Amino acid sequence: MPDSAITHRTAHFIGGAWVAPAQPHAVLVVTNAADGSDLGSVPYGSAADVELAVAAARSAFPAWSALSGQERSDAILRLRDALADRAAAASWVISLEVGTTARISDAVQVGLPLKTLAGFADAALHIEDELHIGNSTIVREPAGVVGAITPWNYPLHQLIGKVGGALAAGCTVVCKPAGLAPLSAFLLADAAEAAGLPAGVFNLVSGAGSIVGESLARHPGIDVLSFTGSTEVGSSIAAAAASNITRVALELGGKSASVILDDVDLEKSVKASVNNAFLNSGQTCSAWTRLVVPRDAQDRVVEIAVGVAEKLTVGHPLDPATRLGPLASAEQKRSVLDYIAIGVGEARLVYGGAGLPDGIPDDSAGGFYVRPTIFADVDNGSRIAQEEIFGPVLCIIPHDGDEDAIRIANDSPYGLAGGVWCSDEDRAMEAARRIRAGQVDINGGAFNPLAPFGGYKRSGMGREFGPVGVEEFTELKAIQR
Ligand code: NAP
Ligand code: MG
Repeated sequence: MPDSAITHRTAHFIGGAWVAPAQPHAVLVVTNAADGSDLGSVPYGSAADVELAVAAARSAFPAWSALSGQERSDAILRLRDALADRAAAASWVISLEVGTTARISDAVQVGLPLKTLAGFADAALHIEDELHIGNSTIVREPAGVVGAITPWNYPLHQLIGKVGGALAAGCTVVCKPAGLAPLSAFLLADAAEAAGLPAGVFNLVSGAGSIVGESLARHPGIDVLSFTGSTEVGSSIAAAAASNITRVALELGGKSASVILDDVDLEKSVKASVNNAFLNSGQTCSAWTRLVVPRDAQDRVVEIAVGVAEKLTVGHPLDPATRLGPLASAEQKRSVLDYIAIGVGEARLVYGGAGLPDGIPDDSAGGFYVRPTIFADVDNGSRIAQEEIFGPVLCIIPHDGDEDAIRIANDSPYGLAGGVWCSDEDRAMEAARRIRAGQVDINGGAFNPLAPFGGYKRSGMGREFGPVGVEEFTELKAIQR
């Protein structure tokens, strides 16, 4: 596939075919994060395109939902294989749209969704679709048509969390990818076509959130609306969906804490925490952006953290020497620099700050580069500790013992993820249980792509991925005899 076929898209994927948008001349330009140039374009869809896509998904639903788990599983595996054929293209295009380094793009932006899709194929075989309570037979049924609205930071991973779960459950889908990074969704549509998914099972409409996203959220033909993105937009989507009593699943922002207790190896725990915070240049919803450390260890923590940051060479995402790519957009860069300025007034800057990273010649290159930045002596009540920055900015917050550390971790409007570092297994487990968040890793426990993912508090409602993520797209019916 030539590069321009990947980057320049002129049709939506609806009802198993490439369909010209209702307004064929309106396009959404996609920007190259590495230099600010135009990377490509996709259709700027309208409510009429959403109408067609929802109708296609509705008419495909009866046959798709009637297939056996085995048949759906086979189809999902064919989709996985067809997507694997496009892995290099997806990794390349996401690196340029989002700014993710090639290594992380291969492993996380594309490798991870391929794994989770295989996991969904397996989950389709093991849905517990019947249970008995007294004289009732409880049957689990596909919920219907799923509307999927996704963000730009892990564009393919977020999309697969919804599409894989919905298809495994027996639902059909209409997707609306983020305007900043829509191109991998089109590769998924190519894969759906190559895999021979039945027409209308997977549909894709691109465009603005305020038009295409809003139309999906308000559409009475959508049974479950699954959204990943900011808390602000999530709240407006839930309000829009409420008019039809459409079920909503929301995966929103975070401000997660890595809590280091007083009995651990600082080298290992601090290095892992800093790398977690800066993954994908900090544009990760579950990033541990607050590092909560014993007060008397703070100086040593700063030393180790700065040592890690110094090695994070900032540069072009496709340059193999780069460890930290640019941010995804000019708006994102401005917002992160604003937070860095706020942080300088609120805490002690120990690394980075405003200005260009080393080795980035000047702003005329047009890429959205910022310096990895670390603040120490951060008060958890300050703005940089409470608000999601979504860039490579780490807050080091001192604590005075386990109780205080857990209090700080929980003193946040968000509750998406967290980490606990402690040599004593019981003490670590106790702290992990008390952190009010959807995912907590003890001593760097590995990310599990089959575990349910989602948030407490303002980080969302519902869970996605793995078997639990399939159940989210089902309804329960009680039949009495
Ligand atoms: P966003 O601005 O909320 O956008 C998310 C999606 O919603 C995009 O497709 C967007 O379209 C669309 N949208 C915008 N306004 C809409 C409206 N009024 N009605 C319907 N849809 C609308 O979020 P983002 O800037 O793409 O992503 C960053 C945020 O996502 C961060 O807060 C991050 O924490 C969160 N996130 C959460 C998770 C999680 O699993 N919890 C994972 C990743 C990211 P446009 O692109 O056209 O604006
Ligand atoms: Mg946005």
